[in-house]
Amino acid sequence: MKCNADLYSLPSNYLFADIADRIKKFTALHPDADLIRLGIGDVTRPLSRAVAQEMADAAADMSTPEGFHGYPPDYGYSFLIDAIRNSDYLPRGIRLDYDEVFISDGAKPDVGNLQELFSKDTKIAVTDPVYPVYVDSNAMSGRLGSFADGRWSGLEYLPCVKENGFVPPLPGNDVDVLYLCYPNNPTGTVLTKDQLRPFVDWAVSNHSLIVYDAAYKAYITQDDIPRSIYEIPGADECAIECCSFSKTAGFTGVRCGYMVIPKKVMGYVGSRPVSLNQLWRRRTSTKSNGVSYPVQRAAAAVYTPRGWAETMENVKYYLANAEVMLSGLKEAGYEVYGGTNSPYVWMKTPNDMPSWDFFDLLLNKAHVVGTPGKGFGPSGEGYFRLTAFNTLENTAEAVSRLKAL
Ligand code: PLP
Repeated sequence: MKCNADLYSLPSNYLFADIADRIKKFTALHPDADLIRLGIGDVTRPLSRAVAQEMADAAADMSTPEGFHGYPPDYGYSFLIDAIRNSDYLPRGIRLDYDEVFISDGAKPDVGNLQELFSKDTKIAVTDPVYPVYVDSNAMSGRLGSFADGRWSGLEYLPCVKENGFVPPLPGNDVDVLYLCYPNNPTGTVLTKDQLRPFVDWAVSNHSLIVYDAAYKAYITQDDIPRSIYEIPGADECAIECCSFSKTAGFTGVRCGYMVIPKKVMGYVGSRPVSLNQLWRRRTSTKSNGVSYPVQRAAAAVYTPRGWAETMENVKYYLANAEVMLSGLKEAGYEVYGGTNSPYVWMKTPNDMPSWDFFDLLLNKAHVVGTPGKGFGPSGEGYFRLTAFNTLENTAEAVSRLKAL
């Protein structure tokens, strides 16, 4: 059997392995150190009671003849699809057809699997720094050329740095697929409608596709920030949107997300236009047997008045942590970005210190763990990511330790 050489030649995910390794060495030397982890990208607050109760009720229903459900529909139950259309999109003036929403077990699988729709010679662009899944999933399929000095030869990197206000430049016209993620992981920054519009215009006129990852849209607090790319006219012709209940409702361990593929979005086989909605439908019906009934009932309960109120309490809690980091670090003289519409704070390392050196400094002197920006791409060098997913007490303590550095 011949293995997938592209998968084999993928560089190891040094980032989290390196972090774990350094923490292990540190704790071996300092077993009593009170480490505060602000590197984690996982939520920590429990599920809403209403949501958990609905999942339990659905599980109990499954033990009755009338409540039992076998294989779920490949693309999701109508009760959840309708809740999403009516709660996430309609209030923002976005009308989606029932068959334009696909329920899944999360945004990571969706963005990872989406590249199966692209031909091998599809040219990809990503913002830099970037959520690594967009890059690695395309690299596994041999679409990115060779990897040297932290860069793929066939990938277009769009730098997002303080000098351009973290607004990426438009990609070249040879780019077929652009991945955008807003609110952004890792920078925590957002795009206004005016800043997003040129990307949609570019994609429409260039017949390119935008994969828009809106996994953190629940954290948006400002009115002029779009929660969906479909708030921009023309996006329903050129964009696919990936969403998740993970960071919205604490579903990282429950697993549920959804993807929107408007029927107007076309790709090409030769010069022939092909509906990506149809292509994804075909792919999904072969490879998926859907998401479990209790999980979809729980996801739908997020949109009930009590489910939503309890869920947003958690989002507010994380946003308050982000605010503690932003204001405290600013006060201490650090340059900080993101954090107002996002659970991520992106800080400039002092005196342009390499991000791994800053990691070591923080670990050894403050006993605080974050994530070195370089791990998210070449333009992440000189930056550092802190997350708001710890407790308020730990977050405040970490900030005072950074102030004292
Ligand atoms: N998209 C982005 C940008 C993320 O940061 C994450 C998780 O960290 C995901 C998607 C994963 O979402 P899910 O848990 O639904 O797979």
